[in-house]
Amino acid sequence: MKISIPKEAITQIMANYNCSEEEAAKAYLDAQERAGDAFQSFLENRFSSQKKMPEPVEPKIYTPKEIKKHLDKYVIGQEEYKKRLAIAAAYHFAMIKYLREHPEDQTVKRFRKKNTITAGPSGSGKTYSVEVLGDLLQVPTLIIDATDYTEAGYVGKSADDMVRELIDLAPGHNREEQSRFISRYGGLICIDEIDKKAKDGSLAGHDISREGFQRSVLKLIERKLVPINNPYSAASQIQEVIDRQKGERAEKQDSMISTENILFILGGSFERPGDNLESIVKKRLQHKGRVREDGSVEIKGFASDEKKNEKSQLKNFYREAEVDDFINFGLLPELIGRSPIRTFVNLLSKNDLIRIMQDTKDSILNQYKMEFKLFNIDLDFTSNAVEYVAEISENRKTGARALVSIWENILTDFQFDLPGSNFSTIKVNRELCEKPKDYLLKLLEKSPFVDFVENFKKEYGIELILDEDVQNYFEHYAQQNNLQISETLKKFLFGASALNYMGVRGTYKITKEMIEDEKYFDKLFAIWYENQKKKIS
Ligand code: ADP
Repeated sequence: MKISIPKEAITQIMANYNCSEEEAAKAYLDAQERAGDAFQSFLENRFSSQKKMPEPVEPKIYTPKEIKKHLDKYVIGQEEYKKRLAIAAAYHFAMIKYLREHPEDQTVKRFRKKNTITAGPSGSGKTYSVEVLGDLLQVPTLIIDATDYTEAGYVGKSADDMVRELIDLAPGHNREEQSRFISRYGGLICIDEIDKKAKDGSLAGHDISREGFQRSVLKLIERKLVPINNPYSAASQIQEVIDRQKGERAEKQDSMISTENILFILGGSFERPGDNLESIVKKRLQHKGRVREDGSVEIKGFASDEKKNEKSQLKNFYREAEVDDFINFGLLPELIGRSPIRTFVNLLSKNDLIRIMQDTKDSILNQYKMEFKLFNIDLDFTSNAVEYVAEISENRKTGARALVSIWENILTDFQFDLPGSNFSTIKVNRELCEKPKDYLLKLLEKSPFVDFVENFKKEYGIELILDEDVQNYFEHYAQQNNLQISETLKKFLFGASALNYMGVRGTYKITKEMIEDEKYFDKLFAIWYENQKKKIS
């Protein structure tokens, strides 16, 4: 596009701001761009309420294979689960489309939904897969935690609220349109931690409300008409009074939504202190005499070479779970009965965690690379660094959940200090991961002691003096205990913040005696405090 700049405007800018012609021309163009943005945002603000929303698009129908292929790009492993999920979703939405287009067909008046229930360790991809599925299908997808909800009538969110929350996620100009979208095209509700609502003999008092919750979920799963607005909200109650005054019935047909087109995906780890689904399954299998002499259990079809993989066979009993096992765990038989697809996820191995970090389409490492690239820094992760993080994560036993927070802890100071510095490449190796702060300070050619003293002064206004003797002590301790020097300083001098409350100003010399006694500053503060009390009285 050709842009012409009026000559008189350039002359005016040059005269007003004493700049060159080139500078004036550039400033003119920049100003024009800004003015364009401001113009647009002014119009947006003024007319936002009248803005034409894009018309809701009919979601596309996918085959199970297409869905699975999409899940494969984001979710590592969990093959059985992804396949089952793909089948449930593909047939559900294809059936809704068919019934929408063939309302006269009486053969499938009320179809049996492929609601799914999944058991398996936390953080291994149960809810994440549903998130990815919802993105592909472009249907409203709600993922909730059962523990945030209560049985209707109790204080807290009820199961019906889930449906209303799903409506919030649908396209449309108002709630009626949004709910119509779900009625036409369907939606997904994933209830995580359903196992926390299982009956548990040892907790008699809680059982009634837990069972109540399960019953209300069951009603939703079966088919229920739910008011699209919360009947207990202040707005609804006012509306009801107005309607009554006008002589209208409060519950209008179009303000209800049926749950029949919503696919429910239930999941949980099915573990609780002293009891879990795996042990229930194991007990049943033992009872059936399928346990070998060494205590391992023979599970048909688990591995091709059973002898070689005996240890790993012991790992996943979820896959053998049957209806009765879920019932024994405390789920309502009807709820299990209405969830015909039962599946499982595996515990993630160190290898899986490594693949999650680097091989998925939106992998964590790629995201960090991209973030640093925004500030012109290339990150290069070595394989031993990635392995190190996978090991820590594996030890935490939280599946892949901890990965991001571990990387955040490692990279925080780098994210703060490197943008705007002279560094254009950083090799993220194991040493960096083990001692990130010390590693960074070394890169920046800054002593950890100077850094600590500076930060302490910024925080508390007191300049600590750490002489050579004291520094040697810290260095030695850090080395002996495989700690970072910066970490050791924080650990030992944590109590020194008390000096701030004791009114100390200026410089303060730290001696070896102070750091050798863990409680030194606590004691100092206690004495000071007593003296203060005496002074006041
Ligand atoms: P849960 O099994 O308890 O529902 P999530 O699915 O919420 O666990 O997993 C937590 C996070 O860990 C996800 O947001 C995702 O980033 C990551 N994650 C877990 N499992 C996988 C997997 N198999 N593949 C890729 N990422 C995963």
